Amino acid sequence: MNCYLCGASVETYLLKNGFCIYRCSKCGLGRTDLKKEYRTFVKQHYSKGYFTGDPRMSAYVDYKDDKVYIVRNLAKFLKKIHKHKPQGTLLDAGCALGFFVELALKKGYDAYGFDASSYAANEASQLVGAKRIQHGTIAEVNYKKKSFDVISMFDIFEHLDDPRADLRKIYSWLKDDGIIIIATGDTRSIFAQLMRRRWPFYSPPQHLFFFHKKNLADLLRQEGFTPFEWSRIGKWLSLRYLLHLARTTGESRIAQLVYPFAHHSRAGKLPVYMPVRDNMVVIAKKHL
Ligand SMILES: [Zn+2]
Repeated sequence: MNCYLCGASVETYLLKNGFCIYRCSKCGLGRTDLKKEYRTFVKQHYSKGYFTGDPRMSAYVDYKDDKVYIVRNLAKFLKKIHKHKPQGTLLDAGCALGFFVELALKKGYDAYGFDASSYAANEASQLVGAKRIQHGTIAEVNYKKKSFDVISMFDIFEHLDDPRADLRKIYSWLKDDGIIIIATGDTRSIFAQLMRRRWPFYSPPQHLFFFHKKNLADLLRQEGFTPFEWSRIGKWLSLRYLLHLARTTGESRIAQLVYPFAHHSRAGKLPVYMPVRDNMVVIAKKHL
């Protein structure tokens, strides 16, 4: 296998959850070997259980019930967008249950979203109206060319199996003076380098690509975008979600023991701020 980005040879980086993550010997891009067809995987994996705490998914404990924390994080992203585009049409790619679409609508944007999960897209439709939500992957959905001022991709980029092809489609939907905003894990963040295989972001098979700033910037430039603002954010989450991450991808035995108590107690819903800043946020525009 060769690197998706630069074509150099790859080597085994780690084995986790029964999957192999390879890393490029030259540019450092990480990639999961999914071992099956992506479309089939997406349909099976992003079910209701993914959002409601099925431990086999290493995903969310209760996405809907943790809305207050999720929205708190999303509000930070909206603030960044607002600085550059205070109004206009907005598309949230990988909108999950539609919380960001709802938030952007409240702020005055003409907001839309889509998600590959039929459970999520259905929930999002109920929240913001069916005309604003589509169901499908980036390859499957369609929008008018040059129709959006803003396209957001929060915590979705690492789930894509062909981010280059997907960026091309995103590019076609974006107005010439539009912006995209991407938030994804950074393999060269201090936390990622400290945690190594226990970094919760290394969670195959849901996460398929592992970028750092340099190789994400390279991919964006190759596909017609100029990145112009980089930042990092800490995240709010519930205590039980933190423990859930620790017991699944963090491989913590203590969290495994403590989790059942936290899940059913009020303490489990307490807010925790994780200032680890292992996520990078980039805003990019089209090349002129
Ligand atoms: Zn490479």
